[in-house]
Amino acid sequence: MKRKYLLQAALLLSGLLCTPFSTAANAQEHGAHTHGEADVLIILESTSLFITLESPAVNLLGFEHAPHTNKQKQLAKEVVAKLQKAEHFFAITPACVLKNNSVDFPFELENTSTHHVSTNGNHTSKEHHHDVSLNVEWQCKRTKKLEIDIKIFEEFKGFNSITAQWIAFDRQNAAKLNKHNSVVILEPAQ
Ligand SMILES: [Zn+2]
Repeated sequence: MKRKYLLQAALLLSGLLCTPFSTAANAQEHGAHTHGEADVLIILESTSLFITLESPAVNLLGFEHAPHTNKQKQLAKEVVAKLQKAEHFFAITPACVLKNNSVDFPFELENTSTHHVSTNGNHTSKEHHHDVSLNVEWQCKRTKKLEIDIKIFEEFKGFNSITAQWIAFDRQNAAKLNKHNSVVILEPAQ
């Protein structure tokens, strides 16, 4: 699908441009991803808003292996259920209508058929590291300014910082977000 391809290409680009300037004391570097950090890509295309979140699984779960105890399995289900309600941690002003909310979760979940589970990938270059990705699409009203508060820091304690990049109103921008500075403002150049 063309749009999905565009998002993937933009994410790839964002990965190449991303500079590792994290100073988080407990962040672990291992090439593929850094625990505590995540990437968000936002694209506003006319009245369609696309947000992709790419995060190490550990930020959401507190561990990064396949859940095996009942407690871990239960937690994994809760995390996926939360991610399927993206309106809870992307607060958009003026409000937009959620159109699509898909979660790419790296582990099998039992008794679950409502979401897409991906078990391919993530096993070659970074055996013990797994990413979760979230793709959300909203339909917005025509506007000159859109504010997006990324409240994921409140929802999941494992996030120290998020590198957000956005393409909107014919311009491109980026910012490092944290729990004290979590708002992205999309607006045309002055
Ligand atoms: Zn990892």
